Amino acid sequence: MLSTMQDVPLSIAQILRHGSTVYGDAEVVTWTGDGSRRRTYAEVGRRCAALAHALRGLGVTGDQRVGTFMWNTAEHLEAYLAVPAMGAVLHTLNIRLFPEQLVFVANHGADHVIIVDPTVLPLLNPQLQQLSTVRHVIVTGDSTDGVDAPDGVQVHSYEQLIAEQPTEYDWPDVDERSAAAMCYTSGTTGDPKGVVYSHRSIYLHSMQVCMTDGPAMKQGDRALAVVPQFHAMAWGMPYAAFMIGASLIMPDRFLQPEPLAALIAAERPTMAAAVPTIWLGLHQYLEQHPQDISSMREVLIGGSAVPPSLMHIFEEQHGIDVLHAWGMTETSPLGSVARPPAGTEGEQRWRYRYTQGRFPASVQARLVDDDGEVVANDGTSIGELEVRGPWITGSYYGIDAPEKFDDGWLRTGDVGSITPDGYLTLTDRTKDIIKSGGEWISSVDLENAVMGHPDVIEAAVIGVPDAKWDERPLVAVVLREGSDATPESLREFLSDKVAKWQLPENWTVINEVPKTSVGKFDKKRLRSQFHDGGLAVTRL
Ligand code: AMP
Repeated sequence: MLSTMQDVPLSIAQILRHGSTVYGDAEVVTWTGDGSRRRTYAEVGRRCAALAHALRGLGVTGDQRVGTFMWNTAEHLEAYLAVPAMGAVLHTLNIRLFPEQLVFVANHGADHVIIVDPTVLPLLNPQLQQLSTVRHVIVTGDSTDGVDAPDGVQVHSYEQLIAEQPTEYDWPDVDERSAAAMCYTSGTTGDPKGVVYSHRSIYLHSMQVCMTDGPAMKQGDRALAVVPQFHAMAWGMPYAAFMIGASLIMPDRFLQPEPLAALIAAERPTMAAAVPTIWLGLHQYLEQHPQDISSMREVLIGGSAVPPSLMHIFEEQHGIDVLHAWGMTETSPLGSVARPPAGTEGEQRWRYRYTQGRFPASVQARLVDDDGEVVANDGTSIGELEVRGPWITGSYYGIDAPEKFDDGWLRTGDVGSITPDGYLTLTDRTKDIIKSGGEWISSVDLENAVMGHPDVIEAAVIGVPDAKWDERPLVAVVLREGSDATPESLREFLSDKVAKWQLPENWTVINEVPKTSVGKFDKKRLRSQFHDGGLAVTRL
């Protein structure tokens, strides 16, 4: 029997219509370095209509791709909404990619138009000649200066382009399963892979961002999206904010601790999202330059494991709860979120909050061992995490990657355990696990333990070859200025925190842990620095 329910597609146009009318007074705030630009959601709605007309005028039809090469701004929000709502496909380009990866991604996605911020033109210009499908470059602001456009590529200013356009648009009906947006993985091995989100997947994911057991974004929130819009769709914040009537605070290119602190003090966000390194940097800055950031009731941290020490610092010194979450570009990205079970009190709560958390009803998760067998969710059995659900990718755009899927489940490459009541604890990426004498050492556990030392700013652990044990951990640490900590004293500090056989004997003190294009510890680079002899290693 079929249901009697109406078959109304879930669409970005619906999110846009709803946000710009019902929550027309909510605002998107873009930081300028010494103040803010503000625009209400009603204005955003009108400008989205004008942008859609302008893009049609440039010949954007069907599911053509419109690339964005932009920081987090009001204009980027407009592209997020207008491009899919008109039936085209938004393609967020990571402005920190290596040039050859940028060329690969824009050509592979077949971008017809690129919208670009003037401040990142120097990164785009040298590659424009090689972007074979691009016909139009739209520069945000009033000017077209500074674009080295090759023959056949027209250049427009965003403001001039939308200025004379109608401010209403008859948004077309779309199939909810059709493509709305695409984002390439940051590609630590091989070429980046394209993930294509549907209207339906984005819609459902946005609802999850607003669920109280999830990130709990709500009407009236002021959500600071530090996570770039080119990193896994800014973790779904822009769409969710428009859906629920939360205002958005966009840092533009000002992601360093000093301007971030100023932005928070001025705009008083109530929630925020970013990878751990951003919060570590902000905390260090605030130690020297105290400011009140307690307007934030909670910050969503994911992208890599959150060191427990960071959670305690934020709660105890800044009065802010850290909400630990796990996800991937392939999972839209919201997977699990670490909220303790109702009724859990005091210290008990930490036990749950350190974990990667629980999955929502829409996302199924299982652990699979090396033999391909599903292991029990008993809190101790370890396996590779596999997930499936309506906002989990089932393939990659234009390529075959059978090794990434297992009978309809996405293989995440993350390894860990799940408790009977569903809490996931990740021990590592499969490729980062250290195999020492037939036993596994979790690089994440070691990093967390080392980062618990008050003089340690950053710590990254990699496996290095060892004649006796095959592999042993090497700890790369960044120490606080003036610290007299030594490899010996750090090892001593670890002695009651990790098993004796796991105690690392290889240490290197460095100035900064290399970071990936989305701000995570870049262990691949650290490994090649080690293999090239670029790290001064102390062996205890
Ligand atoms: P990306 O697609 O760039 O967002 O990277 C996804 C990967 O980041 C995951 O497969 C994990 O390895 C890692 N990751 C994300 N969130 C967490 C977390 N909370 N703890 C540990 N690793 C994480």
